[in-house]
Amino acid sequence: MSDRNFNKIIDNVCQSVDCHKSLTSYEIERQKLLPRSWRYRFCRICRQMPDNSSKAVRWRCRLCPQIMCASDTVRGKYYCNRCGIAEGKRRSRLKAKK
Ligand SMILES: [Zn+2]
Ligand SMILES: [Zn+2]
Repeated sequence: MSDRNFNKIIDNVCQSVDCHKSLTSYEIERQKLLPRSWRYRFCRICRQMPDNSSKAVRWRCRLCPQIMCASDTVRGKYYCNRCGIAEGKRRSRLKAKK
């Protein structure tokens, strides 16, 4: 099964709710090359932030205002659990139509 283009959304600012710095072309390229590697949605400083620090990165779900943090889920995931399930269903419906 090919999912190379699955979830391909390129961000150009750091997704940390506390940061929002512009990402470098290196990070943007990485997102294109490694669409499943969510950590490049954050700038270098946020990427290096330990998950258990008080400044651990927090980011928002793409579909709802829910704030996620790396101690709850995979760092940089696009959707919260609830939206992730909804998205998964939407995708499998799209796939079924083809
Ligand atoms: Zn950042
Ligand atoms: Zn959500």
